[in-house]
Amino acid sequence: MVMLLQFSAASAAPADSFETRSSCWASASLSEDVVAIGRNQDRWSCRDQARSIDAERVLLRFDIKAGEPLPHYLLSRRAALQAIHLLVIDRDGTVRQDTIPAAALASSMAGGYFKAPLPDMTSETRQVIAAIDLPSHRMTLERAYLSPTDAAGGIGDMRLLLVLAGLAGMLVMPLIFNAAFYRALREPFVLWHSALTFSLLMTILVTSGLAVMLFDPPAMTLSWMTTVIFGMTIASGAMFTYSFVEPGLMHPLLRRVLPYCAAWAIALSVLHAAFPFVARPIQSSAYTAAFAPVLAIFILSMIDALRRGSRAARFQAIGYAPMVVVGLIRLVTGVVPWLHSTDATLLFYVGCMCEVVFTTLGVAERFVTMKRERDGARNDAELLERLSETDPLTGLLNRRAIELQFEQLRTEGFSALAVIDIDHFKAINDINGHSVGDEVLKAVANALQPGPSVRAYRLGGEEFVLLLRGEDADTQAELRRRAIPAIVARTVPGLKRPVTASMGVTGIVGDEDFATLYERADKLLYEAKSAGRNRTRGVIKMTPAPRDVPDDRAMTA
Ligand code: GH3
Ligand code: MG
Ligand code: MG
Repeated sequence: MVMLLQFSAASAAPADSFETRSSCWASASLSEDVVAIGRNQDRWSCRDQARSIDAERVLLRFDIKAGEPLPHYLLSRRAALQAIHLLVIDRDGTVRQDTIPAAALASSMAGGYFKAPLPDMTSETRQVIAAIDLPSHRMTLERAYLSPTDAAGGIGDMRLLLVLAGLAGMLVMPLIFNAAFYRALREPFVLWHSALTFSLLMTILVTSGLAVMLFDPPAMTLSWMTTVIFGMTIASGAMFTYSFVEPGLMHPLLRRVLPYCAAWAIALSVLHAAFPFVARPIQSSAYTAAFAPVLAIFILSMIDALRRGSRAARFQAIGYAPMVVVGLIRLVTGVVPWLHSTDATLLFYVGCMCEVVFTTLGVAERFVTMKRERDGARNDAELLERLSETDPLTGLLNRRAIELQFEQLRTEGFSALAVIDIDHFKAINDINGHSVGDEVLKAVANALQPGPSVRAYRLGGEEFVLLLRGEDADTQAELRRRAIPAIVARTVPGLKRPVTASMGVTGIVGDEDFATLYERADKLLYEAKSAGRNRTRGVIKMTPAPRDVPDDRAMTA
């Protein structure tokens, strides 16, 4: 940016190259003979320097001073026109002339300029006359000059091009970041920021000598492209502001107007590029002036959002500041007739860079905050979800969880279900108190020990469910049931009787649902209870262990 500002300062100083500016100008109609006007002194106005495009044809006269390097090109700010006639007049009155239709005009390395080669120049040449048919922009007349070479041959111009190429390269980075941001955060402002960055990248290409160096497109092609890309830039900038400023931090009316500004900018630029000769004498000024409301709405939106405390607007206000100044300069110089129109080109490049740097920072910051908020919300939701599926007393999963997980677990190979119910739990409560009963429930939960092939749930009260997979599913269930008395005795001391449990276990048949499976296991549990408790009913392949004592003995021991 510092380098661009240096260039800016340098270009403000008088150029030391051999540039010849026009000294007089004349206006004519398309039917008049150019050579005749050239010879008629009365037609020329040499004191009034403000050129006007009101006439169909405007002639510029350049006086060639003897002793200076001969010019070979006419260069000027490109804008739509119909044709250029070039006359080279020698001291003896000999005239050599050439006509170049607009479509054949080449682009100059000087950004935004076209170049037209002059007919043969000799040491006898004293005057060059350029007649421009249907000029559409005052700057084409005001900026015209003759030069021995195409511009940008100098080392300073080459350096500027290098800086601009670097700048264009830098603009690719936000595009890459945005692709990554958008993957994580599907927010439209990321897309609009990419559109804005892309438009600015294209702007730098088409307005500088870069496009000419790379592709050498005809001057008129670059001219309409510049116009359309300008509309795209304004539109994507407006849409970026529309989607980027935080909800509630911009007046709803201003926010609602921004998309209309975008549509207006596109419509204006497309019409201006497609029909440059409609109302030609005033079109360029009217076109420039038509952007005034857009600029005003943008400035108002920024002020409003800043006053409401928008962080997004802070990044934008700083980033857009130089561009707004450029806009104001173009607007004022383009509309006020006695001011020389200017593109404020270098400040414009500074503006492009500033805009992209600060809006990218803003997007990155917003990305981090939104991501944190979203992750936080997701974590909260997950926590709530987990809580709603967890039994608070034992920490086991609850009935809701088993109902949600059942189908999934079945596909993962869980194929057996065991229902375990503590024997005479009511008595434990009655004898030892409810809180000791709670401790017993926790101890039983510990005995159930979930693992990769065993899921444990508390279904309610003193009833537990195991879901199991693997060849030894029922063995695993039985081992856990049998571990209950010892684990409870160890963790809840002072119980008068060992705590045992009964179990019903069964395997899944076909693709039956949880309710069917549970009903069968529950029936088996009921059978185990009826058969005397502290035992298992169902498919059991393991041999009885010595501790597998009948219920009633356990209760009375
Ligand atoms: P059975 O051997 O036939 O299963 O008899 P049981 O006494 O275990 O069965 P019953 O269904 O009659 O009694 C269950 C008791 O469990 C009744 C209820 O007070 C108690 N209970 C249910 N939930 C809790 C709890 O969260 N904490 C405590 N301490 N007791 C509970
Ligand atoms: Mg019970
Ligand atoms: Mg029960």
